[in-house]
Amino acid sequence: LQAAAYDHRHRPATTRDGHSIEVCANLGNTAHTPDAVERGADGIGLLRTEFIFMAHPEAPDLDTQVWEYRHAFDALNGLPLVARTLDVGGDKPLDYWPLPQEDNPFLGLRGIRLSLTRPEILETQVRALLTAAGDRPLRIMFPMVKDLEEFRAAREIVKRVQAEVAAADVQVGVMIEVPSCALLAGTLAPEVDFFSIGTNDLTQYTLAIDRGHGQLSAESDALHPAVLRLIQMTVEAAHAHQRWVGVCGELASDPQAIPVLVGLAVDELSVTSRRVPLVKACIRELTLDEARAQAELALTKASAAEVRDALESF
Ligand code: PEP
Ligand code: MG
Repeated sequence: LQAAAYDHRHRPATTRDGHSIEVCANLGNTAHTPDAVERGADGIGLLRTEFIFMAHPEAPDLDTQVWEYRHAFDALNGLPLVARTLDVGGDKPLDYWPLPQEDNPFLGLRGIRLSLTRPEILETQVRALLTAAGDRPLRIMFPMVKDLEEFRAAREIVKRVQAEVAAADVQVGVMIEVPSCALLAGTLAPEVDFFSIGTNDLTQYTLAIDRGHGQLSAESDALHPAVLRLIQMTVEAAHAHQRWVGVCGELASDPQAIPVLVGLAVDELSVTSRRVPLVKACIRELTLDEARAQAELALTKASAAEVRDALESF
């Protein structure tokens, strides 16, 4: 399957009954963009920009960032790029941005909350993204958002910078990785352009299991029916407002999960580059009806282990 999948990597990921899903790549380094395109990615579905910041001894200035992002756009040849704004804190420290000592850093100042305490950093990043994009398809999304109020505060910054640089319109979206945002997807959907579900953090915060916990790693499974229900709620709310939904957490590249995610009607999967050909091949094997049946079955189960057992025979 691997070799055949690679041969067909540039074909779209369309189910046997004609339903297409975009399969994009997750990147932390813009120098890997040509490789992602070569592996058949339909775009970059998650650029983890904090890795660009971590590669510098101090916060990269506007020109450095423009150079970085331009690199990605040039290699993409018109394919879309979803840039996640700086996601620092919790499991993602940044040496030159010392954070307060907190008892629970995973529940503290991190992600968009942290960025909103230093809006000038976010502004520079947004300016660099808009400048590098020009009229190429840029989508900006914010990490670890908990509700509409936080999204509005961050989007305000994008709007301000857009007006200053007279930039073309860009899609502005939200990562769904805090359960409150999935539960409130219906209140967010009218104001966002898209959702991208970060199943790594969404699972951590839903199951209350540290995503890096060695002993509990077997139980920290994103195929848990509680996580699947949050995904279902998010997609239903988004589609009711004609918004698209991606999944950019690791669940998107799990072959057992792909039928379930397709059946839950997600529009895009974003996975590590080397998995793109295989994920596309898995989708091409399915029909939408089969996928829906798998999703419905999974949602009736009581645990991730039960879900995996039920999906095994498929
Ligand atoms: C996620 O949480 O699922 C995600 C994609 O973001 P990261 O893994 O970078 O936290
Ligand atoms: Mg995350």
